[in-house]
Amino acid sequence: MGVFLLDFFAATFCSNFAVQKKAVQSPASTKIEMDKTQKIREGLMLPLMEAFYTVQGEGIHTGVPAYFIRLGGCDVGCVWCDVKESWDAGKWPVLDIEEIVDQALVYPGRTVVITGGEPLMYNLGPLTALLKEKGFSTHIETSGAHPFSGNFDWVCFSPKKFKAPHPSIYAHADELKVVIYNKSDFDFAEKHAELVKQTCKKLIQPEWSKSGQLMESIVAFVKNHPNWKISLQTHKFMDIP
Ligand code: SF4
Repeated sequence: MGVFLLDFFAATFCSNFAVQKKAVQSPASTKIEMDKTQKIREGLMLPLMEAFYTVQGEGIHTGVPAYFIRLGGCDVGCVWCDVKESWDAGKWPVLDIEEIVDQALVYPGRTVVITGGEPLMYNLGPLTALLKEKGFSTHIETSGAHPFSGNFDWVCFSPKKFKAPHPSIYAHADELKVVIYNKSDFDFAEKHAELVKQTCKKLIQPEWSKSGQLMESIVAFVKNHPNWKISLQTHKFMDIP
């Protein structure tokens, strides 16, 4: 685990712990909080912002029913982020991964998408191992800003200009999905396309609020670069989560 993550856990979870310690000052509760911090480090407990069964709205798997696990915590800072409430991991309940997986098993679909926030802030090895043991196909949506972890059937890598990806993501990416917010993002997309494996699917997706302004350029780009496809946020048209 990197120095950043240790700092992150210290700042986020241990600050909560410090507040509680002042209020309670019980050795038992101190031990419980320390155990929780350790389990988060190991990926056995994770902060869960929300989880819901819906239909994948964007990317290669558009239209596939899927259970989304949205983990809390992100340090990437995209100006156009539509889930800014996810950024502060300390706001969300920390659950055992068994509980997270049990909730997914209630639904008939067997595709799980782990998203965030930035899910690679955590060690996703234990969660993905348990999901696969229970028969799920595991997908992730990540900016790649932290070291890769976990066992995934599909890795959707969506790099962001606001924090450079960790080099470990490029070998794992099955899908490169670049959000187009302004015209310089086309060059950014092509730069990352040079770094992913040859079989990686390449998609550009208009940022929702800029769709009208940018659609003509996006259509022109894929017509001139036929190895790219357009991804649209169809869940927003369908008005589903
Ligand atoms: S990486 Fe995702 S969650 Fe984090 S700021 Fe960017 S869009 Fe928001």
